[in-house]
Amino acid sequence: MICRDRVVVVTGAGQGLGRAHALALADEGAAVVVNDLGAAAEKVVEEITARGGTAVADLGDVSDWGYAEALVRRAVVEFGALHALVNNAGVNRDRMLVSMTEADWDLVLRVDLKGHAAPLRHAAAYWRECAKEGRPVAARVVNTSSGAGLMGSVGQANYGAAKAGIAALTVIAAAELSRYGVTVNAIAPSARTPMTSAVPAFADRMRPPATGFDAMHPANVSPLVTWLASTDSGDVTGRVFEVEGGLISIADGWQHG
Ligand code: ADP
Repeated sequence: MICRDRVVVVTGAGQGLGRAHALALADEGAAVVVNDLGAAAEKVVEEITARGGTAVADLGDVSDWGYAEALVRRAVVEFGALHALVNNAGVNRDRMLVSMTEADWDLVLRVDLKGHAAPLRHAAAYWRECAKEGRPVAARVVNTSSGAGLMGSVGQANYGAAKAGIAALTVIAAAELSRYGVTVNAIAPSARTPMTSAVPAFADRMRPPATGFDAMHPANVSPLVTWLASTDSGDVTGRVFEVEGGLISIADGWQHG
């Protein structure tokens, strides 16, 4: 139970990776604030409760500056503290750059990049307050970058630019917040989720294997997230961790070879 008695906010936790992280964090003893836009968050809270865990749903758009502040406050009001923020909410609108619309660009940059920065900014203000009052909380931030941002991905200029921005946000926030006892890291995951299954080139590689270890299952990414959210990871900050099951580094053939 590496997250026993910790309070964690997970954004975009109604499905896919965010849901897997919320379930894993609750299993590790955390009280979880499950954010998403709609009722899927409530279903995840029901799942956690049925497993004996503690969670509440908080519905809203994380790229809304005021809502992001309210989300941080909800954790403190509901559970008395905030120890970790797992920024996971995201969208994609994949198209070749030459065909990309302004709406495609604005939505992805707003939700993916500002939607990480806004909760982080408000959590940082809370943690600075805790430190000033002489009760630092071993706070942790886990952001969600992507191989699309680190290496590039054809058809994802908007998404890749946002995810590269998240890698920069991670390094800069780590440097700025270390004085308050906060670590800031990011994962760059590849897993079979509703988002990735909609990208034909990925969907093909992410089919469940007929036999053997299913490297692309979202739950396989979550143990790193629970560790980064725990007090155990205090010596690790400003890093981006690729968790991609060989999808990118080994390329074709790993799954069936
Ligand atoms: P992933 O591959 O990261 O799991 P998904 O599309 O499966 O991607 O999950 C992303 C989650 O983020 C979805 O549940 C989606 O509803 C949520 N989400 C998207 N936009 C926002 C937003 N503005 N605020 C909060 N959650 C959001």
